Amino acid sequence: MAETKPKPKLNKKAVEMAKQDPKVRAKNFNEVALGYTEAEALEEANRCLQCPKPLCITGCPVEVPIPGFIKLLKEKKYDEAIALIKSKNALPAVCGRVCPQEVQCQAKCIVGKMGDPISIGRLERFLADWERDNGYQLPQKNPPTGKKVAIVGAGPAGLTAAADLVKLGHEVTMFEALHVGGGVLMYGIPEFRLPKVIVQNEVNYIQKLGVDLRLGNLIGRIHTIPELMKEGYDAVFIGSGAGLPQFTGCPGENLGGIYSANEFLIRVNLMKAFQFPESDTPIRIGKHVVVIGGGNVAMDCARSSMRLGADVCLLYRRSRDELPARHEEIENAEEEGLVCKFLAAPVEFYGDEKGWVKAMKCIAMELTEPDAKGRRGVKPIPGSEFIMETDTVIIAIGQTPNPIIQRTTEGLQSDPRHGTICVNEVGKTSLDGVYAGGDVATGAATVISAMGAGKRAAKAIHEYLTNKK
Ligand code: FAD
Ligand code: SF4
Repeated sequence: MAETKPKPKLNKKAVEMAKQDPKVRAKNFNEVALGYTEAEALEEANRCLQCPKPLCITGCPVEVPIPGFIKLLKEKKYDEAIALIKSKNALPAVCGRVCPQEVQCQAKCIVGKMGDPISIGRLERFLADWERDNGYQLPQKNPPTGKKVAIVGAGPAGLTAAADLVKLGHEVTMFEALHVGGGVLMYGIPEFRLPKVIVQNEVNYIQKLGVDLRLGNLIGRIHTIPELMKEGYDAVFIGSGAGLPQFTGCPGENLGGIYSANEFLIRVNLMKAFQFPESDTPIRIGKHVVVIGGGNVAMDCARSSMRLGADVCLLYRRSRDELPARHEEIENAEEEGLVCKFLAAPVEFYGDEKGWVKAMKCIAMELTEPDAKGRRGVKPIPGSEFIMETDTVIIAIGQTPNPIIQRTTEGLQSDPRHGTICVNEVGKTSLDGVYAGGDVATGAATVISAMGAGKRAAKAIHEYLTNKK
């Protein structure tokens, strides 16, 4: 009788990734997570079952061939593995760091039913970092089509659409309002989660593919969308994001020392206030910071403030279970000593004689029964007001799209309530040849959902241009 080989036993625990010590990292802006070593990446890759019908791919908005790249990684064919990822995802070093894999690909991984799912994001990061250290190869491009496409905004949606369209042979020009490309990846997400050299490297790669990136070009001011079409662009993709901050509307919100999350993070990241005390453009941060909100943006503001030397309290109107930030980042923030006040909301801000915030009135909240979608609302508890002393407040309760493009583009349909540009399932707007995607169409969402929208729109633009007489 033929001998059957015993099946190797599945290791239920994922290989841990080293991090900076919480006490040390809470005082610096260096990257928190240190990435896998080669041996760790191989050990983790070996846990993958190479499922014939892999569910993990269905959880990825850009359909990265996950088992395929893990198999190549196991065989130490790192160049082929990263090329396979890049056939679908132009920003793997970013996605490997900031994607919420725990609710996407990893949530679908079959191994997750028996133990920890495969750490797909960490393996993706390992390969992207390997490529950065070893040099990247450019993929084959289609022959030139003679068609010109304008992309508005160099965030994840615009960069993805640009990469796909230039590979298909179109001439792509990307207009970016800021002096750097990358969108929120550059001006929002802090250095300790996503080092800026990594973002710059991904932007460089897209330029090397042949995309003409024009910085300092605010569309709606310098050119409008109809002007771009008249100048000879055959199609336009709008990926201008959601950069307009929302405020609480509470009395006293205009006092000194109260920042929107956008202003605060732009000053810390883009204007390099994080390089204190050497920075030429430092930010005034007090001793007692209150951050209002519970998403990734709020978490980033809180952790940046801690690193700038303040005592920080995160004020969130729901409970810990409802925090919308990535789980890993909540844990990281707690390890660093972040103090949270749950089930509380601001009511009024009080200032000193010089007009700087000195305290705020808050009210306790309670959760209501879940609605049809299972989401619990909140309501204030009458008579539960209390005072919190503070000298800096950061408001991180959401962003909406900046309306400049909608206002300067006749016939471009947008949602009057949310300010988002209306699109169909492939990103087509109400105007012929004009497409949109990412946060400008959905409202504030995630990097990978913006990339997925950029990909779908690039495919639709290619079909539109191919069929255009
Ligand atoms: P953006 O990234 O906003 O890029 C839009 C670009 O368009 C910007 O560069 C802007 O300057 C430019 N622009 C705007 N208007 C014009 C104009 N008129 N003309 C020319 N250019 C213009 N998502 C995750 O998945 N994981 C996270 O951990 C995470 N953390 C986050 C932390 C913070 C602080 C923030 C703010 C967001 C975070 N997100 C996270 C959300 C994610 O970053 C966004 O969903 C994503 O960046 C949206 O991509 P986008 O391309 O649509 O827009
Ligand atoms: Fe590997 Fe999990 Fe995908 Fe199966 S579902 S191929 S185990 S990553």
